Amino acid sequence: MPPRLLALLTAPSLDRPAPGKPPFRFIDVEQPLVSALDLGVTRGDGVFETISIGGGRAQATGPHLTRLARSAAMLELPEPDLDAWRSVVYALAEELSGVKEAFAKLVYTRGIEGGDRPTGWVFAEASPDHTAARRDGVRVVLLDRGYAHDVASTAPWLLQGAKTLSYAVNRAAVREAHRRDADDVLFLSSDGFLLEGTTANLVLKRGDRLTTPATSLGILAGTTQADAFSFARSQGLTTSYELLTPDALEDAEALWLVSSVRHAAPIRAIDGVERPIDRAFTAALNEFLVGRRD
Ligand code: PLP
Repeated sequence: MPPRLLALLTAPSLDRPAPGKPPFRFIDVEQPLVSALDLGVTRGDGVFETISIGGGRAQATGPHLTRLARSAAMLELPEPDLDAWRSVVYALAEELSGVKEAFAKLVYTRGIEGGDRPTGWVFAEASPDHTAARRDGVRVVLLDRGYAHDVASTAPWLLQGAKTLSYAVNRAAVREAHRRDADDVLFLSSDGFLLEGTTANLVLKRGDRLTTPATSLGILAGTTQADAFSFARSQGLTTSYELLTPDALEDAEALWLVSSVRHAAPIRAIDGVERPIDRAFTAALNEFLVGRRD
């Protein structure tokens, strides 16, 4: 049985330090960890990150932790102690050094209802095998997210762009995709702009340019997308963040959903219409992403 690891942070936030105590302790993954009163469980009131681990080395830890802190700030959670979180991630990654591809999931909640301290834990295990999705691609459907493209500024309390634990909507959207004989979703704003997937960013290639929807659209600023852009620039391509409408999908010569763990999954069909896959570029991009280090 491949290793599954769990660690509980002693003091996940900076406002409640625990001097002299170890920053975390390993917990038996089969044992109960979270209280039934934890607001992360009862209200989805918390944030998370998923970090890829390749050969025992965590990938893009800095950008993931920065985003954890940003999401936490959007929810007005206490500022996370990023050094403590980093030490847990590195310790779990080291434990998984014999595993080619793994991931760590960081969860940071508001803690027990009525209490005054957040809860933080990290779970890590071997990644599922994403070879087929990376090589042969995924079929997506366009679904309305129900918010206008400027929701992040007009209604910041909707927390668009924060990586909150409230992913029930994203999971429901994937079930809708399955009902429509697809694997995943590409969300559109209610006023017709391309947004992101349920757990991934959209990247498209037109000529010698890679483009992704602007993060001002209330979507997640992707760590994988950022690294895909670095790779593209190293290959002599240009990159851009834009407001895109579905016409851009027609013009694109290749499209991907990019995310930690699955990395770059080419989009091979949109609403049942086949799309070309750039196999050579996809393979090179995934080789780069799988081999990433901090
Ligand atoms: N967009 C959403 C909604 C996500 O949940 C994720 C990752 O889980 C991403 C984009 C991609 O982010 P990253 O590349 O940092 O994993």
